[in-house]
Amino acid sequence: MTIRLFNTLSKTIEDFQSVSGGSTVKVYTCGPTVYNYIHIGNIRSFLFSDLLQRVLRIVGKYDVQWVMNITDIDDKTIRDSAIGSKEWLNDMGIQSDNPNHNLRLFTEYFAQKFIEDIHSVGIQTAHFHTMPRATDYIEPMQQLIRNIIDNGYGYVSEGNVYFALGDWMAKEHYGKLFTVDTEHFKAGVRIDADEYDRESVSDFVLWKARKNNEPYWDFPYNGYNLPGRPGWHIECSAMGQDILGLPLDIHTGGVDLRFPHHEDEIAQSKAGYGLDTANYWCHNEFLEVEGKKMSKSLGNFYTLRDITDKGYDPLDIRFLMLSGHYSSVINFTFSGLDAVQKARKRVQDFVYALFDTRINGDASATVFHDVATALADNLHTPKALEILFSFINNTNPATLTAESKLALIEEFRTINDIFGVWNIEAKPQEHIIIPDDIIALAERRLQAKKDKNFAEADSLRAAIAEKGYTLKDTKEGYTLELNER
Ligand SMILES: [Zn+2]
Repeated sequence: MTIRLFNTLSKTIEDFQSVSGGSTVKVYTCGPTVYNYIHIGNIRSFLFSDLLQRVLRIVGKYDVQWVMNITDIDDKTIRDSAIGSKEWLNDMGIQSDNPNHNLRLFTEYFAQKFIEDIHSVGIQTAHFHTMPRATDYIEPMQQLIRNIIDNGYGYVSEGNVYFALGDWMAKEHYGKLFTVDTEHFKAGVRIDADEYDRESVSDFVLWKARKNNEPYWDFPYNGYNLPGRPGWHIECSAMGQDILGLPLDIHTGGVDLRFPHHEDEIAQSKAGYGLDTANYWCHNEFLEVEGKKMSKSLGNFYTLRDITDKGYDPLDIRFLMLSGHYSSVINFTFSGLDAVQKARKRVQDFVYALFDTRINGDASATVFHDVATALADNLHTPKALEILFSFINNTNPATLTAESKLALIEEFRTINDIFGVWNIEAKPQEHIIIPDDIIALAERRLQAKKDKNFAEADSLRAAIAEKGYTLKDTKEGYTLELNER
């Protein structure tokens, strides 16, 4: 089935075609900066990329090579891994006088927590082609920076290397993903921060000179050494080329990464490699919490762990995120999470009913094709779920033939390979403990029957039913079952 995707480059929905023309698709996702536990806004972004790779594989039948990087070197990881910055660093063994070593210990700790978290919401880490740490790719980053300088679009100033944006904009359009007001460009102004706003369009940093007690790497260039560390934007350009090769098929990230991160990535890769970064750029919208932008000052800032600590199932969080279209703002609320929990269970109960072979009818039913068609259309999960729920509401499993039930189970298995929130199996047997007072009533009834006091036996059976249990007579005596509620 042809997959259609909104491409931020063209601002239109396009039929997807692979760079190679074959079945291999290279997908690069800007991964987390590992300096803390991830918040639910991050989770939305990674769930979107996970959805994309699942739809490409299962609906599009592509062989997806999916890379999600780990940003382990940037302003924030350096700040928070510095000795004395956090009281708990000692517990992580961060006490050596080697800042590179401390950075690694610190970022690996949060990288592992990140992997646990995304695993809990069903992100298929097994499908990662690799999960590269930026600091393992310092060499390719340095080579790219050398290329950029040699091609005339980079220069050294006080040990830093900057991208000469003015020279670049004289040749190539800057602002392919995000409208950048080039009137805001300030010639001669240099930006050292990894993150900056649209009013600060200027020469941005590729390599930052070593500062006291900060992690650094030697950088030989033209007989000089420029000890320091990479800027954030150069990391993804170099890893994308080194691991997958540019141009990528699809580059993903949140809308907040369009500028400056992705714009800078496009400029650097073209200036240094002469290559486009990606044929398709796909961005997911923000997550709001209780109708407002999530922020610590508003008290509506949640990590994934904050939500699961309240007793919520991570798969309900996954289902909530997938219930909205990736290009719309999602409003995260706890009442929404409760509603989603019920909706998820509704599908689960339907699946369990398909496994129940006690009653078979003569009807047949099918749903996968319509669900897949909605997903192929720019990953339209709300439409796919609408189709699924309408199907469930209009289909009684007991009216289906045994063959149709089996076929539907396979369809739901494939649908679940994409949504990843259900168990496609028979309902697990629940071990019910029958309360003593119910057993006492059943024993009294057994005695009444033996005494041929049938009126008493009938009224005792009614009393048991009233308490929600069904009593059945057997040769040996009786059985008790808890009624479905
Ligand atoms: Zn990136």
